[in-house]
Amino acid sequence: DDIFDEECDYLFKAVVIGDSGVGKSNLISRFTKDEFRIDSKPTIGVEFGYKNIKVRDKLIKAQIWDTAGQERAITSSYYRGALGAMLVYDITRLSTFVNIKKWLHELREFGNEDMVIILVANKSDLSHSREVEKEEGKVFAEKEGLCFMETSALQNLNVEEAFLQMITIIHDIIS
Ligand code: GDP
Ligand code: MG
Repeated sequence: DDIFDEECDYLFKAVVIGDSGVGKSNLISRFTKDEFRIDSKPTIGVEFGYKNIKVRDKLIKAQIWDTAGQERAITSSYYRGALGAMLVYDITRLSTFVNIKKWLHELREFGNEDMVIILVANKSDLSHSREVEKEEGKVFAEKEGLCFMETSALQNLNVEEAFLQMITIIHDIIS
C-alpha cells in the first residue's frame, strides 16, 4: 500500500457519521484493513483510516474520519474539507434511522455544499430483527438526493461498494 503513497493523484477526506453503535468504526476498519470487531471499544477523540484505491486510472488516497465514540460532541471542524460523507444507521434500531434527519441537517449546516452523501443501512445480516425496511431507506435517500446501500460490516457485504461509490462520484466531480 505504501508504495504508491507519494504518487497518489488525489487525497480525499470523507467523514462517517450516525448514532453511536450503528457500526461506523467497523465499516471503516472493514474497508481500510479488512477487520471486524465484535466488541469494538470507542476511543476518545477523532481517528481516521486510510485506503489507497484506483478509480478510473487515478490513484486516490481516501482519508476516512471516524468520530471515535464522541458522536454528541462533533464540531464543525470535523466536517471541514470533507468531500464525502457516509451517513449510517442500523436496520435493527428504528431510532437510528429516525435520527438520520438530524445528521443530515447537521451535514448541510456544517459541510461543503457539494459534498457527496451516501446513506448506509448497516447490519443487513441481522434481518430477523429488522426494524427498517430496505424500501424505507431507499425512498428517503431518493427524496433527499442521496446514494443508498445496505451493508454488513460483519459479513463484508457491500462495504467496499459503498465507499467506492462515494469516492468515484467525488472523483468525477473534482476532476
Ligand atoms: P459505532 O459506534 O458506530 O462506531 O459502531 P461500532 O463499529 O463500534 O459497532 C457497534 C457494535 O455493532 C459492535 O458490537 C459491532 O461488532 C456491531 N456491528 C457493527 N457492524 C455490524 C454488522 O454489520 N453486523 C452486525 N451483526 N454487527 C455489527
Ligand atoms: Mg465508533
